[in-house]
Amino acid sequence: MNELREKAKELLLNNTVKLIIGYANGNGHNRTYPFIARNAADANRLVFNEYCVNNLAVYLTRKEFKGKGIIGIVAKGCDVKAIIQLIQENQINKDEVYIIGMNCNGAVNQLDNSFEKTTLAQKCINCTVRTPALYHALIGTTKDIEEPADTLGEKIKEVEKLNADSRWDFWEAQFEKCIKCYACRQVCPLCYCEQCIVDKTVPRWIESSAHTRGNFSWNIIRAFHLSGRCIGCGECERVCPMDIPLSMLNRKMSIIAKKEFDYSAGVSLDSPTLVGTYNMKDRQDFIK
Ligand code: SF4
Ligand code: SF4
Ligand code: SF4
Repeated sequence: MNELREKAKELLLNNTVKLIIGYANGNGHNRTYPFIARNAADANRLVFNEYCVNNLAVYLTRKEFKGKGIIGIVAKGCDVKAIIQLIQENQINKDEVYIIGMNCNGAVNQLDNSFEKTTLAQKCINCTVRTPALYHALIGTTKDIEEPADTLGEKIKEVEKLNADSRWDFWEAQFEKCIKCYACRQVCPLCYCEQCIVDKTVPRWIESSAHTRGNFSWNIIRAFHLSGRCIGCGECERVCPMDIPLSMLNRKMSIIAKKEFDYSAGVSLDSPTLVGTYNMKDRQDFIK
């Protein structure tokens, strides 16, 4: 904690950064919330622990911060994947972000839970970025953590075994629950369109009421828009009030991107984006 606060103070006092997007302690239990530090006093409020669940990269594309000088950000490895993806998609300038990378020992799946093996966030199981892939300063150390079984992978395999009609029924039942609150979109660092397709009214592409047909369109379109771009931070599923298993869709799409195009999102600044490039060896057989 001290190391983070000292670094933050140094960066703010010598004007390396304009402000730092980080976490502060919230009210009650172990909650933390996104917090903007603008001076040394603010820096003393920064915290980092397993309750720092938010992917703060979502703020980097907001008009309040974008193009307003060098922004500091406290980032776990999974958050840094989003930053890499945003740089690759030309949404942020890599020279205008200062990453305070946090060595990470896992995050809790829901803020009201105590942190233990059974409440480790799904995304933390088999995590390969506990030390971030990109940073300007690195804080903390990693230690061994106990991981539960990867139940998400098992759930995906179970649904894959169903025939097309049963798969349809499975997802229809899930999407029927959607109340179109758009929390999944708001929390997603890669959902940065100025006008989301779901808000367009001329023409209206997607029914705005929480109706099964419109719900299906919304969730499938969002999954497609995130294909080859989602970095698997799990934030959309965490905030979904209806417990729709969005990570199943996201993980499945990333498995396909890896299998068909040998691509993983947010891994390296050197690999071009999947949707922004092509290879003559790419499969063509899906084009009818
Ligand atoms: S996915 Fe990895 S980097 Fe992200 S919170 Fe979990 S352990 Fe930390
Ligand atoms: S779709 Fe969900 S898991 Fe993927 S980057 Fe957005 S919030 Fe994270
Ligand atoms: S967060 Fe859940 S309920 Fe809200 S729009 Fe997204 S999928 Fe639907």
